[in-house]
Amino acid sequence: MKTKILVIEDEVKIARFLELELNHEGYAVEVAHDGRLGYEKAMAGDIDLIILDLMLPGLSGIEVCRRVRRESDVPIIMLTAKDDVSDKVMGLDSGADDYMTKSFAIEELLARIRVVLKRKGKRGANNLQLECGKLSLFVDEHRVTYSGKEISLSKKEFELLKYLMENKGIVLTREKILDHVWGYDFYGDTNVTDVYIKYLRNKIDQQFAVQFIHTVRGVGYIFKQNEE
Ligand code: CA
Repeated sequence: MKTKILVIEDEVKIARFLELELNHEGYAVEVAHDGRLGYEKAMAGDIDLIILDLMLPGLSGIEVCRRVRRESDVPIIMLTAKDDVSDKVMGLDSGADDYMTKSFAIEELLARIRVVLKRKGKRGANNLQLECGKLSLFVDEHRVTYSGKEISLSKKEFELLKYLMENKGIVLTREKILDHVWGYDFYGDTNVTDVYIKYLRNKIDQQFAVQFIHTVRGVGYIFKQNEE
């Protein structure tokens, strides 16, 4: 299957140019001309790399990058019209893998695409795995097992568990969990974290008669093994 690149760029001429060049290199290309549509396409799956313009209508490139990063580690190369260091820092801070100004030569962009894809490919092959006792979470496969037994989790349950396991032994406030798993633009109640914690406890702690998720009264939660 062809490697698929999503180009999110509002300047139609540049988007068209990139599409033609990338097609010529053998990549499949999708184009979005605003941030919102770009984000939707990025989340629709099967995208291998995103070329993301910084200044976009709808959602800014930075915002698109942040939102995509909450859900996926698809490689992102950011483009900007300005050769501005603060833009670069912001772009990389928001989770972009690389950064280029628009005065780039297409050969340079193609070279960077190859580098970023190669780097991600290697990382993907490692299949990052989080462990706590007999509980294993396979990041790329979106799979969780306890003592080899599959645990079926919804997308949000999985993300919450991943966040808890990544912060094993650290007390997490409801607000922190909410920001990380549901996003800063979540308008609901912080109780949603309690509800999902309950789901996870039912599926893991109760199911296997263990205790990983501990309540820290008045603060939030901590993920750790009982015997630790
Ligand atoms: Ca633009």
